[in-house]
Amino acid sequence: MIRAVFPGSFDPPTLGHLNIISRGAVLFDSLDVVVAANARKIPLLKPQQIRILLEEQVRNLKLPSVKVVLHNGLIVDYCRSINATVLLRGVRSSSDFDYEFELSILNKQLGGGIETVFLPTEPRYLILRSSTIKEILKYRGDISEMVPPAVEKALLKLE
Ligand code: ADP
Repeated sequence: MIRAVFPGSFDPPTLGHLNIISRGAVLFDSLDVVVAANARKIPLLKPQQIRILLEEQVRNLKLPSVKVVLHNGLIVDYCRSINATVLLRGVRSSSDFDYEFELSILNKQLGGGIETVFLPTEPRYLILRSSTIKEILKYRGDISEMVPPAVEKALLKLE
């Protein structure tokens, strides 16, 4: 039984995130998507709202082994609490990889050997990043190809 955790700020959840979730659901017996605020990023949606949006998407995708939770604190502590042995992360580029690689070493140290598994993004999601979406939204650009309709609706309500 391999339990995996996919942590992120998911602010906002994108089609790129959902792609990693769908692919992770195939690889592991269970996958917990953990919504955790990233102190280095300016928040847009509230974590609770993100959780509800992600849950709705997971339901639509019919992924019964996937659960969405909120967590404050170290991600490795969450992993320990559910006996997860794998951290799942997506990578888009070599700059993503540099950061993710360091983070995986840190988490392995902190988490008593927890392994990080990287999934390369699919080409169509290569340019999808939450920070770009925030920027496009600011200038009222079209984000309908980047996020699910329910997420777009929630974001448009913010203004
Ligand atoms: P964090 O603030 O923890 O980096 P993000 O919500 O930005 O959280 O990202 C969560 C995870 O999803 C990270 O592993 C990130 O690399 C991955 N990710 C984000 N966008 C994409 C995408 N378009 N394709 C594949 N993986 C992605």
